Amino acid sequence: MPTKRDYYDILGVSRHASDDEIKKAFRRLAKQYHPDANPGDADAAEKFKEMGEAYQVLSDPEKRQLYDRYGHNPPQGGFGDFTGFGGFADIFEEFFGFGSRAAQRRGPQPGAHLKYNLTITFEEAVFGVEKELEIPRLETCPTCRGSGAEPGTTPVRCPQCQGTGEVRRVQQSIFGSFVNVGTCPRCEGEGEVVATPCSNCRGQKRVQITRRLEVAVPAGVDDGTQIRLAGEGEAGARGGPAGNLYVVVNVKRHPFYRREGTDLLLDLPINIAQAALGDEIQVPTLEGQVPLTLPSGVQPGQTFRIKGQGVPHLRRNGRGDLIVTIQIVVPQKLNEKQKTLLRELAKTLEKEPVGLRDKGVFGKVKDAFK
Ligand SMILES: [Zn+2]
Ligand SMILES: [Zn+2]
Repeated sequence: MPTKRDYYDILGVSRHASDDEIKKAFRRLAKQYHPDANPGDADAAEKFKEMGEAYQVLSDPEKRQLYDRYGHNPPQGGFGDFTGFGGFADIFEEFFGFGSRAAQRRGPQPGAHLKYNLTITFEEAVFGVEKELEIPRLETCPTCRGSGAEPGTTPVRCPQCQGTGEVRRVQQSIFGSFVNVGTCPRCEGEGEVVATPCSNCRGQKRVQITRRLEVAVPAGVDDGTQIRLAGEGEAGARGGPAGNLYVVVNVKRHPFYRREGTDLLLDLPINIAQAALGDEIQVPTLEGQVPLTLPSGVQPGQTFRIKGQGVPHLRRNGRGDLIVTIQIVVPQKLNEKQKTLLRELAKTLEKEPVGLRDKGVFGKVKDAFK
């Protein structure tokens, strides 16, 4: 690697130079070494590049500070890529108001991607569904097949650029005159213009068409899943490929079930007798019912996992589980017979809070108040 010259030396300013002094120095040197003012002079071109790099660093307060501390090799790894002309040309353009890049013919341009928000039910997400979408999109005009010219006519050579796609302008600036090469504004660099525009697209080459598309939503999608339909976005320009259509799936909430990945969650209310004595119950699933054996002494919040009754895995076989969380419903309205029975039961039950006594807490609390 060749040794780099000091940026301040390159611009011929002191290390304490103000922003304005740096700007002035760069302006002066740029005038002297601009490639258009020194055609074919490799040495001038090299100097021009060098001072551009120096200016890029010293005109940026953050980069200048780094350079002052660490020189050419700051710990974060350099000041960026100066080898290409791109970044520098941008600065030059911004600084002087004209570019030094050669005009390019515009190449194929890919079509825009489209996004469609699709809302489906909870069950549709679990089991999958086919949906028909109506997508308004820009397509290649079928009448002129994208040429923009009325059928039977052909585009003609652009009269402004004589078919070259670029225009050269002599521009006066503070440095003297420069030849500025730009894209032809008339034909936008294509070299051809349409004399008789297509009546369908008015020469725009693409038209808005609303398409009906079938989309297969796979079983197991979740809220926010994106389905990519390649090439179903907008048509490209000048032979570029079409964009993609991204279908973003929104899943509605279910009144009873929730999801955690591929597991289905269900809160299941049972009564106090079922909880105390145990029971054989039926658990509702999204496809019917499955039996569940409750042991005696089931506690509130206790969970039971029913294998394979959850949501199908999206990219592999099998399904998640159904996780049932027990809720114990304490009766709010009792008839006389029920009250009598419960009172009978109550006589046989311990009155002190069982858990606290077991932990020794209840006794300590009582002791504290003695
Ligand atoms: Zn057309
Ligand atoms: Zn032209």
